[in-house]
Amino acid sequence: MLTVTNLCKHFGGIRAVDGCSFTAEAGKITALIGPNGAGKTTAFNCISRTMAPTSGEVWLDGGRIDHLRPHEITAKGLSRTFQISRNLADMTVLENIVCQAPIRGWRGLMKPAMPPEEVAKAEGILEFLGISRLAHEDGANLSYGQKKLMDFAALLMSDPKIILLDEPAGGVNPSLLEEIIGHIRKLNEAGLTVLIVEHNMDLIMRLSHRVVVMAQGQVIADGPPEMVREDPAVLDAYLGGA
Ligand code: ATP
Repeated sequence: MLTVTNLCKHFGGIRAVDGCSFTAEAGKITALIGPNGAGKTTAFNCISRTMAPTSGEVWLDGGRIDHLRPHEITAKGLSRTFQISRNLADMTVLENIVCQAPIRGWRGLMKPAMPPEEVAKAEGILEFLGISRLAHEDGANLSYGQKKLMDFAALLMSDPKIILLDEPAGGVNPSLLEEIIGHIRKLNEAGLTVLIVEHNMDLIMRLSHRVVVMAQGQVIADGPPEMVREDPAVLDAYLGGA
């Protein structure tokens, strides 16, 4: 479904992503892991085109997407979350989700009322995720983990086929971690392909069908979680602080 070939992103002399190739298979959960500074978020940014790659190719469902604009990539079925939630504090969760809906986004400050069809869609998504309780909470009152849940809901407004989750468990309280794991599994079981960057190894080992390990901008291992966990190059990259 998603194929990344020889992707490079250089910042001056820094080779943040340096010839990275991997595939996220349709219907599976693929994790992109690696020590701090390995290039994971930069790779995500290049795939979702929030950043232009220096070179390399990104293919989605047989079509090349690395030259497209972010909204065109979203329209092709790829949506992503960010490490830091884009939650707008002066809006409710429902308003945030409708407002963040790509392409047909409602601009709350300019229009008096949210479009009813978008509201119904957002409410349906909140219900599907089992978080309708948050709909009318102010963005300002959300915990870090609740913001992550809201990000999941916003992600689904564009009817994606593949979702890229950037540290969905980062900074999340342990009581919400299980809920987040459950949501990711549920989205995958509903047919979504998932590519996930995460430092929480428990989450990675429990959820992923396949793990791609990056270090210093390159892929150093790629395989099932139980195999990657034992890989000497992976242990070295983590323990050696590569
Ligand atoms: P973490 O797990 O800590 O989030 P990461 O694997 O996501 O790390 P990146 O954030 O992609 O790693 O960073 C890879 C390298 O690129 C790092 O050395 C980082 O300092 C560098 N880098 C990232 N963005 C920029 C930028 N805009 N300008 C210069 N260097 C950058």
